[in-house]
Amino acid sequence: MTPSIIPEKCLWNEIDQVGIVVPEQERSDHDHTDFDVVIIGAGYTGLWTAYYLHLNDPSLKIALLEKNTVGYGASGRNGGWCSTIMPMSLDSISKQNGRTQAIAMQNAMFATLKEIRDRTTTLGIDCDFVQGGSIEVLRTENQSDRAKSRVQHLREYGFGENFYKLLDRDQTLDIIEASQTLGGLLDTQSAVLHPKKLCVGLANVVRAQGTKIFENTDVLAYTSGQVETLRRTFKASTVLRTTEAFSVNFSQAKRSVIPLYSMMVATEPLSADVWSEIGLESRPSFNDGRNMIIYGQRTADHRLAFGGRGAPYHFGSKISTDSDFNQGVAQRLRTTLVDLFSVLERTEFTHHWGGPLAAPRDWTFNISYNPATGLGSAGGYVGDGVATSNLAGRTLADLVCDKSTDITRLPSVNHSSKKWEIEPLRFVAVNSLTKLAMLADWREERTGRPARLINAVIDKISGG
Ligand SMILES: Cc1cc2nc3c(=O)[nH]c(=O)nc-3n(C[C@H](O)[C@H](O)[C@H](O)COP(=O)(O)OP(=O)(O)OC[C@H]3O[C@@H](n4cnc5c(N)ncnc54)[C@H](O)[C@@H]3O)c2cc1C
Repeated sequence: MTPSIIPEKCLWNEIDQVGIVVPEQERSDHDHTDFDVVIIGAGYTGLWTAYYLHLNDPSLKIALLEKNTVGYGASGRNGGWCSTIMPMSLDSISKQNGRTQAIAMQNAMFATLKEIRDRTTTLGIDCDFVQGGSIEVLRTENQSDRAKSRVQHLREYGFGENFYKLLDRDQTLDIIEASQTLGGLLDTQSAVLHPKKLCVGLANVVRAQGTKIFENTDVLAYTSGQVETLRRTFKASTVLRTTEAFSVNFSQAKRSVIPLYSMMVATEPLSADVWSEIGLESRPSFNDGRNMIIYGQRTADHRLAFGGRGAPYHFGSKISTDSDFNQGVAQRLRTTLVDLFSVLERTEFTHHWGGPLAAPRDWTFNISYNPATGLGSAGGYVGDGVATSNLAGRTLADLVCDKSTDITRLPSVNHSSKKWEIEPLRFVAVNSLTKLAMLADWREERTGRPARLINAVIDKISGG
């Protein structure tokens, strides 16, 4: 039987249905163009940066310029994993900056989860935030072995049971009733949220602080002191770029990141009977230990939202709305989810969407600011930007205000990654990575042995 097409629309855009009023678009035709700070891009990074800049110095006149509408990018479309995961490994930080800095960086992520929880609460941002941890289901011996050695490694860095716990089969099944469960790895600190509600809530907060948000304002180019849009020139002593995957369209950032597409599907709201066969009662985010990245959450309105990589990279780092949907990947996601929870066999899948995220060559996000030029930027979170963008926004605000704090001394500050290769090398290498991850999973499933050689090649290409 041919699988039915999954409707192409983003679940998170249906926030009107759950009672949130989308703020009115700021009219972009008023003539005020002189600001202290202009931020390009109104996703989480731009919004958090504006928020903390105002806290640091309420006299600052701040403008946020957004090509589309608030949360149009990855911030309004992601899987809602507000997690303590960083895109780069502790070992890679340690190699470049030392063990103490690696530990400081991970601790900053734990503190960031608390910061987001506390801020959204005190600011009254209702974004369905729940800190129920994150469970990785281990479904083969290879996945279990990898998880054990990862936990051992985390222990060597000093992160104990209060952060990461290995669970046996029964303990795991108490949380999530996935097929073929052998055990689990619980990250106790992570959370889930409704991505778009966070964008809208933050936009309301920064508007109330006095920041001007200019939507439908396409920035064509920027230099020190000025920003060119289709209609006018904005002047500001500080110009910050927070455009993540879309940064490739600016001359300053062409090969600094590549846009990778991540895709999602969502089910209809599930009945209490179905949930009794799946679990996830305290709403932990979930995945399993396969090589290809997958991620899921039980939403506040009782659906499963589930995503994964596997969409192709487009030649020349092209970003286009045509690539926001991919029925092939959507069907694979449906099959994977039904394989995890057979009770979903007859469930309707009501939404499919996707979007680009930004990957630097060494998978290390960066926050930079040059006081001499007044230019700065933050991003490169790969698929882990929901929480890291808060850390980045706070840090960027401190750098701009010349505040020396614990976070401005973290290794991501002014970190520079090697540029990506020129085409066609980039196209071949990046698309091979995706295929190799799939091949590694297929091999492990068939042979029951770890696909060490394939994983070593993946590490070599990705610089991991
Ligand atoms: C499908 C998907 C699932 C994901 N799941 C997760 C997850 O579960 N957990 C997690 O941690 N991370 C996840 N991510 C990554 C995460 O969403 C991003 O890292 C994060 O949202 C980046 O925020 P940002 O503000 O830096 O960028 P964005 O949200 O991409 O915002 C950039 C903004 O800049 C604007 N812009 C671009 N060009 C211009 C221009 N020329 N002029 C003006 N404005 C411009 C865009 O319209 C956009 O609104 C996912 C990403 C995707 C795509």
